[in-house]
Amino acid sequence: MEVKKKQIAILGSTGSIGTQALEVISEHSDLFEVEVLTANSNWELLIVQAKKFRPNVVVIADQDNYGKVNAALFDLGIKVYAGQDALAEVVEMESIDLLLTALVGYAGLKPTIRAIKAGKNIALANKETLVAAGGLISKLCKEYGTSIYPVDSEHSALFQCLVGEQNNAIEKIYLTASGGPFRGWKKGALSAIKKEQALKHPNWDMGAKITIDSATLMNKGLEVIEAKWLFDLKAEQIEVVVHPQSIIHSAVQFEDGSIKAQLGIPDMKLPIQYALGFPKRLPNTFERFNFIDYPNLTFEKPDLETFRNLQLAYSAMEKGGNMPCILNAANEIAVAAFLKDKIGFLNMSDLIVNCMEKITFVSQPTLADYVATDEATRILANKLL
Ligand code: NAD
Ligand code: MG
Repeated sequence: MEVKKKQIAILGSTGSIGTQALEVISEHSDLFEVEVLTANSNWELLIVQAKKFRPNVVVIADQDNYGKVNAALFDLGIKVYAGQDALAEVVEMESIDLLLTALVGYAGLKPTIRAIKAGKNIALANKETLVAAGGLISKLCKEYGTSIYPVDSEHSALFQCLVGEQNNAIEKIYLTASGGPFRGWKKGALSAIKKEQALKHPNWDMGAKITIDSATLMNKGLEVIEAKWLFDLKAEQIEVVVHPQSIIHSAVQFEDGSIKAQLGIPDMKLPIQYALGFPKRLPNTFERFNFIDYPNLTFEKPDLETFRNLQLAYSAMEKGGNMPCILNAANEIAVAAFLKDKIGFLNMSDLIVNCMEKITFVSQPTLADYVATDEATRILANKLL
């Protein structure tokens, strides 16, 4: 019997997650088909991907590259659109079964909201959306009856541990962290770090923004907030444990003290595949984990004094309201500035603190409040640079 293939839309198909998602899709072309591909400015790769996967629609967010993409794809009958508004519109297409949000940063917020309102389930890699406006996104998912399948490896691990546990309360979760390239370093040595050093992650090969976030531990801070919204947790239920081997991807502790963890060799294709195929586990040929090769799985406390961003994220989460949105926007500006050598490694935290202190606090933000907060924070952060 012919099974209807799941029609997938990918926002950010040219990035690290996007390209790995396309690998997963081509390995399971009997189950998945690509309906929409989008990119910010990498028009060359977008064209190559569109020629191979033959989506119905592609969007290039950067309008300047529209002509080149359209010229290359017009004869194939692929519709090409440009701009941020087009990005938010295409996600509503009737034909889409699942939206993978693999774009980076706050830019994911509007398309994600539109997709949820159109009843689409979301495979979510774009953690910044949940960090900035998790309260709103969770409320909309309930209202429109849609689900979020986490792609982030830690949250996928937690999600997998929770299968079959709907009626059992979570006591706490352990979110594991590799510690990044500067684990064990102290502030004195970190002040002179250059982007080339920070861009080398020991265990994962990822986009530039998340790689810097991993080096500052902001990535773990964003993930703490992401976990709060995905699994409805309080701050005291979320414990970060540094685990440099990145084999245990995270763990859930239940009320009887039992802990379930998910393990595997670090490879984002597994959580991507799980989110696309959910609830089914699909066979693959990814490298298998062997206990004997890893006789020393180790665990440490995170160093919150040196890596202040993790503490800042906890504070923002506890304060609630628009504070995580301020944290996120200030961090996006800080990381972009660090990548342009405009700001030092440790000054990124100073900039975030400054914005958290100065931007007007809103305790029950609406969408308009989030948008205004993000904008005001970016303006202030750029001024403070
Ligand atoms: P990346 O920089 O490699 O790719 C980003 C993609 O988004 C590209 O296709 C780019 O064209 C597109 N994009 C960027 N800015 C955009 C904008 N303003 N408008 C529209 N499109 C835009 O990033 P990545 O490493 O693939 O990460 C993507 C998301 O997944 C991030 O939120 C990240 O935190 C999350 N994530 C990534 C990994 C990983 O292993 N790379 C793991 C967990 C979570
Ligand atoms: Mg992660």
